[in-house]
Amino acid sequence: MTKKKKTFGLRLRTRGGAAIQKRWTRIMLQMNQPHKCPSCASPKVSRSAVGIWSCSKCGYKFAGGAYVPSTKLGQASTRVQEI
Ligand SMILES: [Zn+2]
Repeated sequence: MTKKKKTFGLRLRTRGGAAIQKRWTRIMLQMNQPHKCPSCASPKVSRSAVGIWSCSKCGYKFAGGAYVPSTKLGQASTRVQEI
């Protein structure tokens, strides 16, 4: 009797082992979640390309992170500095 191979969430069609499959799954699930639009606040934002996010409701297009619409570094760069 052969043992069934363990899979980690979504299937990754490359080699790399369990750790990379787990990481990829987590990032993809986070990416495909509904994100809030900064213009109309509806959860219809989806990624159109790497770093480019667009809202399907109002058509608002903006730059963000590769896998998430807003990153910690992006927030820090847009923050107004207090003296
Ligand atoms: Zn919108």
